[in-house]
Amino acid sequence: MRKQIAAANWKMNLTYQQGEKLLNDILKAKLQPEGHQQVIFTVPFPYLIMASSEVANEPNFAVAAQNCYHKKSGAFTGEVSVEMLQSIGIRYCVIGHSERREYFGETNEQLAEKTNLLLEHNIQPIFCCGEPLAIREAGTQNDYVESQIAASLFHLSPEQLEKVIIAYEPIWAIGTGKTATAAQAQEMHAHIRGVIAARYGSAIAANISILYGGSVKGANASEIFAGEDVDGGLVGGASLIADDFIAIIKALK
Ligand code: PGA
Repeated sequence: MRKQIAAANWKMNLTYQQGEKLLNDILKAKLQPEGHQQVIFTVPFPYLIMASSEVANEPNFAVAAQNCYHKKSGAFTGEVSVEMLQSIGIRYCVIGHSERREYFGETNEQLAEKTNLLLEHNIQPIFCCGEPLAIREAGTQNDYVESQIAASLFHLSPEQLEKVIIAYEPIWAIGTGKTATAAQAQEMHAHIRGVIAARYGSAIAANISILYGGSVKGANASEIFAGEDVDGGLVGGASLIADDFIAIIKALK
């Protein structure tokens, strides 16, 4: 059974102390997610060790990095390698967030390299994809998202692909307060699962968690997560507010 996942994406927000308090406030709620549910805190690099130790005794809670470099090691001042993440026990890493694609020029090819390195180091990629507004308005979002996924993931073996978590985040819904409707989310998620099924077979496709991201809040999470192919969310703004994120965790199927 594929996992239902609530992933917080803190982005470049919160001081160390604020982050620690937020984690404590959320853990105090004693949510005890079920075995098929996973909560992931995607935190800035300097907080990874702190966050890992906060969740160390909490079953089904984990920590993710927000990015990694696409080369193994070497003279890349300021970058963080996958091996470094592995060496501090990180099990998940977000890659290809639209902000990184847009502001840091990340390409599908680099994301393929990051995916390979992560899987080699037993870290599960949370691979982000999603279309800008102009593509949505032109009605070509299905092809656009399919080509992002094919370019960065379809070189993988079935065993490798099964370890990838996909996050569909329509760019026009990120941080805008404008959420895709539950029907729009479900439609795209079914399309993504169909594309994976066509390449890898429906058994593999059924095992992949596909998260929705883009203005998910406590108030709309249940409706969005209700979609058959929507396996939880990657949450930015609302993940910075303890009560909101607690409500999102509770909304997992
Ligand atoms: P948002 O961000 O929830 O603030 O829209 C989602 C994301 O970018 O992952």
